[in-house]
Amino acid sequence: MYNFLARFKRKSLSDNMFFNYVVLFFLIILVSILTAVFMSFIVSYSQKNIEQPRLFANQVIREDDLLVQDVLKIDGWVEVLDSNFKVVKTYGGSKQIGYTYSREEFFKLVFSNDGSEYYYSSAYLKGNQFIVLSAVPLNKYKEGITIVRYDGSMSDMNVRVITQEEEKAGIRAMAAGIAFFIIILGLGILAYSKLTSRILVKPLRTLLQGVRKIQAGDYSVRIALKSVSEIGQLKDAFNHMVMKIQEEILLRQKSEEARKHLIMSVSHDLKNPLASIVGYAGYLMKNENLSGPDKNKYLKVIYENGLRANDLIQDLLQFSKLDSEDFSLSLKKMDLCEFMRELLAGYIPQIEEKCISYDLNIPEESIFALFDSKQLDRAISNLIVNAIKYNDAGTTIAVRLKQKQNRIQIVIEDNGIGIPKELAEDVFKPFIRVDSARNSKTGGSGLGLSITKRIIAKHGWDIRLDKSYTNGCRFIIELTV
Ligand code: ADP
Repeated sequence: MYNFLARFKRKSLSDNMFFNYVVLFFLIILVSILTAVFMSFIVSYSQKNIEQPRLFANQVIREDDLLVQDVLKIDGWVEVLDSNFKVVKTYGGSKQIGYTYSREEFFKLVFSNDGSEYYYSSAYLKGNQFIVLSAVPLNKYKEGITIVRYDGSMSDMNVRVITQEEEKAGIRAMAAGIAFFIIILGLGILAYSKLTSRILVKPLRTLLQGVRKIQAGDYSVRIALKSVSEIGQLKDAFNHMVMKIQEEILLRQKSEEARKHLIMSVSHDLKNPLASIVGYAGYLMKNENLSGPDKNKYLKVIYENGLRANDLIQDLLQFSKLDSEDFSLSLKKMDLCEFMRELLAGYIPQIEEKCISYDLNIPEESIFALFDSKQLDRAISNLIVNAIKYNDAGTTIAVRLKQKQNRIQIVIEDNGIGIPKELAEDVFKPFIRVDSARNSKTGGSGLGLSITKRIIAKHGWDIRLDKSYTNGCRFIIELTV
């Protein structure tokens, strides 16, 4: 049974329906045959118990006796003729005793019967000495008996005697047959529909349950069905749709959280420099008689805090610009080595000023790649500036550009204080700083690496912090050309 059902399930719905109709077709044929057998059984059984009236000459003769009551009952008559066709005895006949039928008259009556209202039959009595002639009225219903002649032939076989009981038995058999047909077919269809509903209705119900759960807001629902028919495909599409909705909701929740976090971080980071500016500016206004060096000291604090707030707003602007849908890179095919050399040359005075050593290894030959030089400058500058900003004198900064077939690696490395391994991924998120004390001194916005990551990702490239490097920080940018 299981294999049978499994075979069903593998089919498409249209195949299933076609199969069902074929089964139904054969079911109807089978039930019809069964009904016919049943009816014939009923008819033969009921007819067995019905006594046939004795109406034909050979039935009327009983040994030496004649049983003419049945014939007389239905207004028929019986005559006994001698071998010369002379009437010797009559039971209700129209001819007088002594009347002699001519040969032609007799044979015409018995063998042609045409047009007559009677059906005549004859049989020999006592050897060939006498002839019994029986006449029964045709098509007349009398005493519950009807006699019907099917054609003009001479045989008794073609005359059908239908008794009322027979008729009733026929009707009863017909009614029983119809009832049998309806009940068996009904039961068959019921059983078969129960069977097929396992294939059609059950999966639909499972689908419906899933839809209801979604309606109630449960997007973790996944429908489990083995069917590979259209219902199975519907289930796959449904599960896919729910998964997409769930992802969408999760994404929306995440971006909402990120937005809240961003607002909180920005307001927190702006609060300190603005409070300093407002505080010192107010102090200066109230104390007009301050000495020149004191005034300058406070003005410097105001200026530096203004710069810090400005840097933060600039970074924030850049960060949200990269996030906006309107933003696009202006890509140009350029020499990446040349670009790196020029960029690094610009930072050498700053590096030397902080007494940091450098080791730059950029190939002499040209390597062309498609990039937005302004944005890439910003991305790589953030890494170089961080390496200078967060490390002390005596640190070495190394920058390498390597090509292996069509893969290019730009490595920016220092042997300074480094970033803890556990922050290797998070450090690219906005407002993540390794150590707030370190940052309050250096004054970063905490947006630099997230801006770098976004610019690199917009190029379709990849950036990561090498966790295996424990001597400081190693950022690896990878791209294919
Ligand atoms: P900021 O804009 O504050 O510099 P970033 O996103 O650029 O922020 O960097 C995130 C944090 O990672 C910094 O606050 C700093 O603590 C740490 N960091 C980044 N680069 C280095 C580096 N080369 N050496 C040590 N720490 C670093």
